[in-house]
Amino acid sequence: MEMKNSPAQHIAALIERIGRLLSTEAHAEGLLPVQWEALRYLDKANRFSRTAAALTAYLGLTKGTVSQSLNTLEAKGLVKKLVNRKDRRSKHLSLTAKGQKLLLRDPLNVTVAVLDELEGVPQRTLTTALESLLTSRLGAQGRQPFGQCRDCCYFANRHPKGNPHYCQLLGEKLAESEAAAICFEQTTKRA
Ligand code: SF4
Repeated sequence: MEMKNSPAQHIAALIERIGRLLSTEAHAEGLLPVQWEALRYLDKANRFSRTAAALTAYLGLTKGTVSQSLNTLEAKGLVKKLVNRKDRRSKHLSLTAKGQKLLLRDPLNVTVAVLDELEGVPQRTLTTALESLLTSRLGAQGRQPFGQCRDCCYFANRHPKGNPHYCQLLGEKLAESEAAAICFEQTTKRA
């Protein structure tokens, strides 16, 4: 058990306050924080993960809440739903041009600009620490990490069957731009 006001407690309190600050700022442009999160998710998720089910798992919310948010985003013309050709029961989600344009005014950009100032080692140290904390907390709840494709154990870099990369789990070609996308099925390589 950590002592009161220990370094760990101080860090946890800082994370909590930052989370609250970001959540307050994310009531912007007529959207709710969860709706901004959904837009960001659809912007960075790969093509296998742009579904309501994957978004629900990513957000850790109920199916009903996510479905309501998606309906609002669709009604605002920010997200479109297309029938998935491989599985007609599920819809493939994507951002519209209006949704992409709105993301340029993402309230999170203020924080991104501050973090950009850190550069180099502090940025890498912070990334490693926060990734490790998030993975540990998600793992404790049995939730997926949604890490980047290039860090996945199924990612085959410049594979003969790829374009230029290849997913050994789904048997699909992966474009260069997809290596940095996040994925529902991502399983981080063991060190
Ligand atoms: S390599 Fe991993 S992260 Fe990339 S598409 Fe395949 S399962 Fe998803």
